[in-house]
Amino acid sequence: MSIEKLQSFLAPNYENFPKGRTIGVVVLRTTQSETIFRTEGTGEPMCRESVQAGVQNTESILRLVMTKRKQVAPERRRGREFLRNHELLYTAPKSDSPCSLNTNAPCEMCVDCFLYGFAAGGEGAQKSRIWTEDAFSVLPSTELIGDRTINAVFETGTMRDEKGNASTALKTSEYIKPGVHFLDIATLKDVTADELRYALGNLLLTTRYGAVSSRVGRMENQILGVFGGISELPSSLELVQGVYDRLIAENVALEHPLNTNALIEATQSVINTWTNKRGISMQLSSEELDALIEDIDRHWSLDEQETFLKRLDESYQPYRQIKQQSTKKGRKNK
Ligand SMILES: [Zn+2]
Repeated sequence: MSIEKLQSFLAPNYENFPKGRTIGVVVLRTTQSETIFRTEGTGEPMCRESVQAGVQNTESILRLVMTKRKQVAPERRRGREFLRNHELLYTAPKSDSPCSLNTNAPCEMCVDCFLYGFAAGGEGAQKSRIWTEDAFSVLPSTELIGDRTINAVFETGTMRDEKGNASTALKTSEYIKPGVHFLDIATLKDVTADELRYALGNLLLTTRYGAVSSRVGRMENQILGVFGGISELPSSLELVQGVYDRLIAENVALEHPLNTNALIEATQSVINTWTNKRGISMQLSSEELDALIEDIDRHWSLDEQETFLKRLDESYQPYRQIKQQSTKKGRKNK
């Protein structure tokens, strides 16, 4: 029922013009295994940023950063797996192949294209209505990174060359330890109730992040707060700094592994003050948040998934027809 509570910040139907209705979501992302946020083989270092530790604690620390792209790409892929399963990805007009990410040939018609946007294609672009920002680790990166020296494998994929000699080449590999917390803010603009269910379902159902081909990178996402308003929530950096101050005030040991319950409590006490901030109208209570998550789970369950996704897919039908007509007209006039 709590989705009704958000009604004034949701769009009744999909429409092309933004109206400033904003849902803000506070997400805790916790690594459950060793994780590497980088494209394999590129040698790019683990992403970290020097920032102020807290709002009151002004010394600077290096924090790990989970970039926007590292969050959204796996979550979109997750949703698209289900769309593909129910044959709800369309053929891209330009390439004549099924809609796919990162190929410059989006179909411009599927749920993913309408909600997360696309840039390429003939008729211009669709702006994404799911905004994310870089997420920061709560603790300094020095606590959170492990280093492992491994023997480099030969091209055969084994540790021995053709003559049977063992590999002596060493390389080191950095990874993020299990149990590392990132705090994150997601913003959903002018989404419908079903689009909200779709986007949050993707977030809750995605469990693998980082280097795709590796078997590491297990992560759990938890939603700690949902807000409605006419503007964005404070940034994820402000959140992580507020939480850092709070943990110090409560004498929580700032070392890895950090106590998750203490972290959740600190986060909740920081975000509970946000309804006083400009542009933020309401926050779901913890019972309402539980009810929202139950509602999302139900819509994604095996029994209801197909009905849910087909209903969402059909909601874009009037806009697909407008697009097709304008394409035809455009051609006639030439
Ligand atoms: Zn598409």
